[in-house]
Amino acid sequence: MGEFDLIARYFTRPVRRAALGVGDDCALLAPAAGMQLAVSSDMLVEGRHFFADVAPEALGHKALAVNLSDLAACGARPLAFTLALALPRVDEAWLAGFSRGLLALADAHGCELVGGDTTQGPLNICITVFGEVPVGQALLRSGARAGDDLYVSGTLGDARLALEALLGHTALAPGVLAAVRQRLERPTPRVALGLALRGVASSAMDVSDGLLGDLSHILKASGVGARIDTSLAGALMAQGSAVADPELLRQCTLAGGDDYELAFTAPPLQRAAVAAAAQASQTPVARIGTIEAETGLRLVDGQGRPVDQRYASFDHFG
Ligand code: ADP
Ligand code: MG
Repeated sequence: MGEFDLIARYFTRPVRRAALGVGDDCALLAPAAGMQLAVSSDMLVEGRHFFADVAPEALGHKALAVNLSDLAACGARPLAFTLALALPRVDEAWLAGFSRGLLALADAHGCELVGGDTTQGPLNICITVFGEVPVGQALLRSGARAGDDLYVSGTLGDARLALEALLGHTALAPGVLAAVRQRLERPTPRVALGLALRGVASSAMDVSDGLLGDLSHILKASGVGARIDTSLAGALMAQGSAVADPELLRQCTLAGGDDYELAFTAPPLQRAAVAAAAQASQTPVARIGTIEAETGLRLVDGQGRPVDQRYASFDHFG
């Protein structure tokens, strides 16, 4: 099977919202009047972001999910995406599984595949997503203000715990491993929450490299600091009660990575609106701290005493 048959078979579908999809030199998008295009790319490299033997369907899901998560963080509605794919060989079983996982998530979010590039090479998946957001309403990293509450959606740390188990660094009961592995391999982009937080959150970002490290980006962009109550860490971790080592639990939760949850801030007078956004989007949200004028990140325990441990966040070049 050649390049063009492969594209036609696995990656060409009729478009409804875009003006032109796969098949010409460019795709054409038709953003509605009064909207800004939100654009983001994420690349997944074998051995770096996923294991070579990961199920292709899960990989297709994750490749798009991590991109949709960026749109969610900006409060943008998904419109379309492009797929740049390097494949070592044409493996039709792999392509069928990969495109199934990819396009199922795309359909669930009304996000159309409109183009891309296909080449031979070490397995590498790069997706660019396009979303739309009303002019001036995108959620940015720079809007946090002293006195704002700090929130996180869903749970944190499960994906990292799965990674630790798959690398043989810790042992988990089979049921627990299955649950956390699902979170590692099939993350849920919080698109509905991001949309519901427009006009409510003062800043937002998605947590992909670990909460503390990612949060530092919001703090820096906003010129503020934060205090986090680490006693909330256990509650943030779905499998927390099943993990014996509290230090591992805290590490995974605060600095794990691959969570694809939203971290966001909102003024205290928006608490009811945040709760309503969580309910409307059927996404659990937890308040974990406060934004402060003093820069830097202060971790405290349940009694407000300082916790002096340093939790390094994941850095590809660290
Ligand atoms: P060009 O050489 O003009 O860049 P290509 O021959 O690479 O175009 O691709 C032909 C068409 O197929 C283009 O419309 C391109 O967007 C689309 N395409 C290529 N690879 C993919 C892919 N993996 N998924 C979706 N569309 C693709
Ligand atoms: Mg090309």
